[in-house]
Amino acid sequence: MIYLDNNATTRVAPEVFAAMQPYLTEVYGNPSSAHSLGQRMKAAVERAREQVAELIGAENASEIVFTSCGSESDNWAIGGFLEENPTRRHVITTRVEHEAVRNLCAHLAQIGCEVTWLEVNENGELVLDDLRQALRRDTAIVSAMLANNETGVLFPVNEIGKIVRENSDAVFHVDGVQAVGKIPIDLKHSEIDLFALSGHKLHAPQGVGALYIREGVKLPPFIIGGGQEQGRRAGTSAVPNIVALGAACELAENFDEHERIESLRNRLEDEILKRIPNARLNGLFDRTRRLPNTSNISFEYVEGENILLHLDQAGVCVSTGSACHSTTHESSPTLRAMNVPYTAAQGSIRFSLGRYNTEQEIDYTLEILPEIINKLVEMSPYDKELQALKMSPR
Ligand code: PLP
Repeated sequence: MIYLDNNATTRVAPEVFAAMQPYLTEVYGNPSSAHSLGQRMKAAVERAREQVAELIGAENASEIVFTSCGSESDNWAIGGFLEENPTRRHVITTRVEHEAVRNLCAHLAQIGCEVTWLEVNENGELVLDDLRQALRRDTAIVSAMLANNETGVLFPVNEIGKIVRENSDAVFHVDGVQAVGKIPIDLKHSEIDLFALSGHKLHAPQGVGALYIREGVKLPPFIIGGGQEQGRRAGTSAVPNIVALGAACELAENFDEHERIESLRNRLEDEILKRIPNARLNGLFDRTRRLPNTSNISFEYVEGENILLHLDQAGVCVSTGSACHSTTHESSPTLRAMNVPYTAAQGSIRFSLGRYNTEQEIDYTLEILPEIINKLVEMSPYDKELQALKMSPR
């Protein structure tokens, strides 16, 4: 299989598996135990904490708390801060967040919070003046993602953080799940207070994530129980997974092939847009403000689900917009917020590359995709529109 769905999840790297394996078989104590096996487990967890802190540029490893996934980190950050500050009920977020933030904020709106949803333009960018105007004295938290999971568009979180700091007492939460391991991150030199990440997006297994909590920011515990994670999240630590996350962070830091992934993505994107008349890019054209591995492309007047199935049969895994929408027929809220026309949004495919993709895989994808689209175009009920596109390729 050719796996071009790395924003959905990634394969566990062999180096990461090798690092976690002993903690599944040989070193099996409870990190809270006082005996030597337990202490080895504890030491492994603390080392992983340092590896995570290093990759995201945290000042202190103690600012990292391990969780079970990115969604948990997002929920804890936003829900926890509101619980800690019951007199401040205003939340600001954006229309294009992942469900972990979007659906949580929709829920908060139902239970009495006031949520301001910042709009994006057709390229998926925020208008920062809208944020300035939305900030209020009772704004508790501003939540914005660093990298969009569907389009790869990057929000300028350093600038956003400064605006939040200069104009309010709100804390700034960033969903960094798609960015970690793909672009450099330096939290200590930012105004970010809370930052979520997830192991399975960077070659660690599913079931582990982390929340960065800047020193001084107070959150109630996410799980109440034992004193694990300095009393902030009870429950016996998932040591093998935590060790894997640490190893994955170290691997990402020492990985010098980011440029290779980017150039594969660029070739795939350029060639698709050149060879297929009804293809259009969703999100900023400026690649310096997009993740280096992601292309979201609409094939107008064709069903994305059909493209996905044909590609799958040919051995290529992609996603229609976000994997989470693959069971519904509504177009993705992110593409809707960007005003992508329905007939294009329905035909959107997300290609997300990773460290194991090769030149040959991209060649193969470029060889089969035009044929698949051509076949589907012939079956499409939108003859006239498609003829017009063929006459005037972009
Ligand atoms: N935030 C973003 C931007 C994501 O892309 C995802 C997963 O796709 C999540 C949060 C949720 O992460 P997890 O699957 O670890 O809960």
